[in-house]
Amino acid sequence: MLLGGLLLLPSAFAASRPGADSIQPADLLAHAKVLASDEFEGRGPGTPGEEKTVRYLTGQFQKFGLKPGMPDGSWTQDVPIVGVKSEVSFTLGGEALAFPQDYVAWSPELGAEATVPETDMIFVGYGISAPEYGWNDFKDVDVRGKTIVILVNDPPIPDPAAPAKLDAKMFGGNAMTYYGRWTYKFEEAGRRGAAGALIIHETKPAAYPWFVVVNSWGRERFNLESDRSPKSKIAGWISLERAQKLFAANGTSYEAMKAAALRRDFRPMPLKQKAAFTAKNLSRSVKSKNVLAKLEGRDPKLRDEWVVITAHWDHLGRNPELAGDQIFNGAADNAIGTAGLLELAEAFAKAPKAPKRSVLFLSVTAEEQGLLGAAHYVAQPPYPLAKTVANLNMDGANQWGRTRDIRQIGRGASTLDAVLDAAAKAQRRLVLPDAHPERGGFYRSDHFEFMKGGVPALYLKAGDDYVGKPAGYGESKVNEYIERDYHKVSDDVKPDWDLAGAAEDLRLFHDIVWRIGEVKKQPQWNPGSEFKAARDGQLR
Ligand SMILES: [Zn+2]
Repeated sequence: MLLGGLLLLPSAFAASRPGADSIQPADLLAHAKVLASDEFEGRGPGTPGEEKTVRYLTGQFQKFGLKPGMPDGSWTQDVPIVGVKSEVSFTLGGEALAFPQDYVAWSPELGAEATVPETDMIFVGYGISAPEYGWNDFKDVDVRGKTIVILVNDPPIPDPAAPAKLDAKMFGGNAMTYYGRWTYKFEEAGRRGAAGALIIHETKPAAYPWFVVVNSWGRERFNLESDRSPKSKIAGWISLERAQKLFAANGTSYEAMKAAALRRDFRPMPLKQKAAFTAKNLSRSVKSKNVLAKLEGRDPKLRDEWVVITAHWDHLGRNPELAGDQIFNGAADNAIGTAGLLELAEAFAKAPKAPKRSVLFLSVTAEEQGLLGAAHYVAQPPYPLAKTVANLNMDGANQWGRTRDIRQIGRGASTLDAVLDAAAKAQRRLVLPDAHPERGGFYRSDHFEFMKGGVPALYLKAGDDYVGKPAGYGESKVNEYIERDYHKVSDDVKPDWDLAGAAEDLRLFHDIVWRIGEVKKQPQWNPGSEFKAARDGQLR
């Protein structure tokens, strides 16, 4: 491995830009080790781990010689969030369910207590109302004050065992659309005035196993203080096993109801059992921080246009209720991406000249809580979004060696594809589309908030074709990570990490940002993109 690395690195890295030589696997590893150390306590927002992280990032940006990223000369942007730790008891048909085997639930409201006395339960299929697809799972049924039970993801399910009866273009075909995300389902429940909203967990369509649900939601959750959207009193997940029992008790099966929900003429099905919840809530207000550094563009005219590079610094912190290891170190999610942001910042700072446009290095908070830091940045942008020409987001990185290719999540949306293709070509690498659009990666990190804000974005993932490795190596490594370490206390820096591929990817990103910083015409959304309207509104 070492020999292969030594032989291959020089030729592969030859095409990189001035400054990019400073991007080194060893430096990446060093940053990742600090950020993922137990001392940083899993980088939970509003914890001592946040203070250490913010101090570390600020110190590094300063050392590179970059300027504070806020217009007022500050390194941080306050992100006011409210943390709520809910203890929810859930009685279903008179039976007290067991946490966390049967359910995970919380109260999106901020009061000290929330009670949902016995309510009707109703199964609403995918819980989607999508006029552009002529689809409405709710039909004319009023779910106000009821507890709705919802399938995860969107139809058709990417499961050969449950062939979809829909045409291939519905809901993005195999790709998960926003309608498949848990965020949408809870938002829709709130809009419809449901008292409770429960998503049935199923590993494949959710794209993660049950313990990820427990680790992510079975504890303090944060929301933006400014969020005034309507919410149900109780939101949560129910395990597949418990849902199967529930459907059996209603004389049907989970499979039968899932099949029924694939039909356009599906109607919500009332369930015989009642649901009751009581929540005890402990809330606290936190001013979490986005950390920002800037490199001013060299062109006096284009200097007020921005390329924003993002990587979330936060992870799940520590859970004092766990026996043994309590720290969610989040090495791959996202100490490594944050390390990448630092390496890019250093490379740009060391280059003999800056690009024409300015570059903002933005490490956002509370991504794990629903992209909150990025959402706040976009809602209160220190630099106008209309002048923000592109976002490049990093969440995770390739830990398994060099690849001859790279994956682009959400390919086809904007003219940034051409910039990426040109940069990849210079590295003599291939660009592949998302291997698993059904996992909804397109909606699962901070670039999504920028895109909603009209800003064209790039989100790239590790390639597939590993140098010196058999076919399928990358896929097996990703699956192994999701199985073993994703959102678990075991997401540590591993002794066998090989960051040569990550460094090579970062040199590609460096080149991409350079090109965007220089190019005459700003990147554009392609016609038909769902985000084009937001941009057109800004540029008018
Ligand atoms: Zn994560």
